[in-house]
Amino acid sequence: MQLVCLDLEGVLVPEIWIEFASRTGIAELRRTTRDEPDYDKLMKYRLDLLKAHKLGLPDIQKVIAAMGPMVGAKEFLDQLRRDFQVIILSDTFYEFAMPLMAQLGMPTLFCHKLEADAAGFLVNYHLRMPNQKKEAVQRFKELRFQVIAAGDSYNDTAMLMEAHAGILFHPPQNVVDEFPQFPVALNYTELRAAIDVAAAHI
Ligand SMILES: [Mg+2]
Repeated sequence: MQLVCLDLEGVLVPEIWIEFASRTGIAELRRTTRDEPDYDKLMKYRLDLLKAHKLGLPDIQKVIAAMGPMVGAKEFLDQLRRDFQVIILSDTFYEFAMPLMAQLGMPTLFCHKLEADAAGFLVNYHLRMPNQKKEAVQRFKELRFQVIAAGDSYNDTAMLMEAHAGILFHPPQNVVDEFPQFPVALNYTELRAAIDVAAAHI
């Protein structure tokens, strides 16, 4: 039985924090782990910023819903789910992703959780476990699935290496250079073709 694990941001939907920053005009939210390598500090900074701008979860979800998935993502996913079991593995949060999942036909998503206070302001975040993408693939293999994984960035490479077959989707050049073992797909037609090739060879 073959299972396809897909990254979410940069594959099916935009980078949520970056897109959120540009839609709200809160430029400080463009800060990423490249600028602040301490993830905990970065997340507390982001949550404080949202509260300072009086953005509660319902406001945030409205902005995210308006982003919508990438063009062609729903059709790609619908077709893929007819032929494979598909699980989305992401380091985003359910509360952020759900408005987009609804527009993608509610596929299965494994990610993290946010905590809001009674007024709706985000006060904390909870990572389910460290390295969950790679860990999930490892568990699926133990359940005797053959796993094909696809993602767009550096934080997907552990998952891609753990899978029976890994595919890079629209990755930055430094990731292509550092991981030449993975085929690169630049659009959904190429991604589906790469998945089919992988499925035939594992
Ligand atoms: Mg990504």
